[in-house]
Amino acid sequence: MQARVSALSKIDNYETRHDWPCFVQCGDGGIVFLTKGGSYRTAFFEAFPRNPDTFIRGEGKTVAEAEEECWAKWQKITACPGHEWERRGYKNGGCFCKHCNLFMVGVLEPDEACCICGKPTYYTHDVDDNFYCEAHVRDKPLEKWDWMDWHIAYSEYAMAMWDRGLEANWENTI
Ligand SMILES: [Zn+2]
Ligand SMILES: [Zn+2]
Repeated sequence: MQARVSALSKIDNYETRHDWPCFVQCGDGGIVFLTKGGSYRTAFFEAFPRNPDTFIRGEGKTVAEAEEECWAKWQKITACPGHEWERRGYKNGGCFCKHCNLFMVGVLEPDEACCICGKPTYYTHDVDDNFYCEAHVRDKPLEKWDWMDWHIAYSEYAMAMWDRGLEANWENTI
């Protein structure tokens, strides 16, 4: 199957090695910004399974290597004997399974509250760790988005276009 290739890549198409059950995308020029500052370039491969609803990313020197890492993570998830959740101090509402590392949002009760309405939520947070519920996500100022917010927003848009058989064109949406 074909993976969607990110616009910044030098390659224009990529035939996956594995038969993924979901939307997948890849690129050979992904930039990863580190929370401590700085960045590095890497090839990446990302899968967005719907069951379970998660996001898996592999990185490597080449897209094929990144796909292998991503596939290994997916195999571990599908082989898990039963998920057991822990937060690992993660601030965006996600939990990880102790056994297979599956990352899921909304499994445990939120212990953060929306800074607009006070409702318990893990929906999203900004760079200052203020949380926003789903109803108030648009109150999050754009200047407080981190690179992952932008990456996920673009990925969700590309996935919606993919479902409709259309080409994603970010410029047309701004
Ligand atoms: Zn598990
Ligand atoms: Zn709210």
